[in-house]
Amino acid sequence: MYTDFRRHLQSELNKIEEAGLYKKERIIGSPQAAEIELTDGSRVLNFCANNYLGLSNSPGLIKAAKEALDTHGYGMSSVRFICGTSDLHKELEEKISEFFGTEDTILYAACFDANGGLFEPLLTSEDAIISDVLNHASIIDGVRLCKARRYRYENADMEDLESRLAAAQEQRFRIIVTDGVFSMDGNVAPLDKILALAEKYRAMVMVDESHSAGVVGKTGRGITELFNARAKVEIITGTLGKAFGGAIGGFTTGKKEIIDMLRQRSRPYLFSNSIPPLVAAAGIRMIDMMTETNDLQDRLHHNTSYFVNRMSELGFDIKPTQSAICAVMLYDARLAQELAARLLDEGIYVIGFYYPVVPKDEARIRVQLSAAHEQEHLDKAIKAFEKIGKELKVIQ
Ligand SMILES: *Cc1c(COP(=O)(O)O)cnc(C)c1O
Repeated sequence: MYTDFRRHLQSELNKIEEAGLYKKERIIGSPQAAEIELTDGSRVLNFCANNYLGLSNSPGLIKAAKEALDTHGYGMSSVRFICGTSDLHKELEEKISEFFGTEDTILYAACFDANGGLFEPLLTSEDAIISDVLNHASIIDGVRLCKARRYRYENADMEDLESRLAAAQEQRFRIIVTDGVFSMDGNVAPLDKILALAEKYRAMVMVDESHSAGVVGKTGRGITELFNARAKVEIITGTLGKAFGGAIGGFTTGKKEIIDMLRQRSRPYLFSNSIPPLVAAAGIRMIDMMTETNDLQDRLHHNTSYFVNRMSELGFDIKPTQSAICAVMLYDARLAQELAARLLDEGIYVIGFYYPVVPKDEARIRVQLSAAHEQEHLDKAIKAFEKIGKELKVIQ
């Protein structure tokens, strides 16, 4: 039996490789940071991690995690409702609620699980989910697991959203679902307009703040801060795996009864292990740090506008961004790949994205800025972009 299946897989894998879509992994031998060492010995400046606040290697978080290992051990060996809830899990949930100005929070092993287990416990075939086409894969999967009627609207297109809302008036309950920041362009969802439409068409709103929490808004509270809409959306999901330390873990935070129902019925919560106490302890420290000072957000916002402005002045075609994601548009897939490869030779680690991850003829290099980048890191990257950009005739 396996002989046939192996042949089948091998031929599918070959097709992936021939299409130039086969993903290989670069192996890092140092901690995650602005400057990393690859196992081939090369040192490169990292502009493709979600390490927006530079906390992946934060001494404060490492210390908190080490202390929790001594006080709370290594693993919980249980789901939350049997014997997997420690005081650290409860404290982190409270801290996340304070951070977002919400009523209650439920932790998951990842945001993929938070989104995967969100819709099915809350909505039935009588209800409607109205979802942005560019929403994250985990939202798409979560929506698939739910029997609610599905509507899709074009990315951040408010006219299209309005027509879907109008079409969904027959259903009992409606929820608009959107990423806060869209990861390929760096644009934010127009939450002010979404909330106005939600009010007009009697819908709830869910925002996934994975790329915006810690990043967007003056103090990094996400797009609800940017649009002055704290406590106005019913549901926020997010990850501890990006700006918030980069380890593992996700959460849903929002209205008390929603969170309560998720604790009763959400399958990834009921049937999957608790996050390790050391991760919860580092998460608590992380939120405390962000409450004490805004230094990291200030530095990240400075770094992002510096990079975007300099690159635009050089003549690069940059997508308008309100996040720490800067899309350098090349349009041509081969050009994006070549530019990324040549930049790596210059010690700048960035990734080219092309179809099917982004639309055809919209190939780009995605640069992710971090509070951990020093001025010299930014200048070195800009210089390398200028040099290779001129060689490849992307800029004059
Ligand atoms: C990264 C991401 C996730 C997944 O988060 P994990 O905690 O790594 O599972 C979910 N939603 C969005 C919008 C993301 O960007």
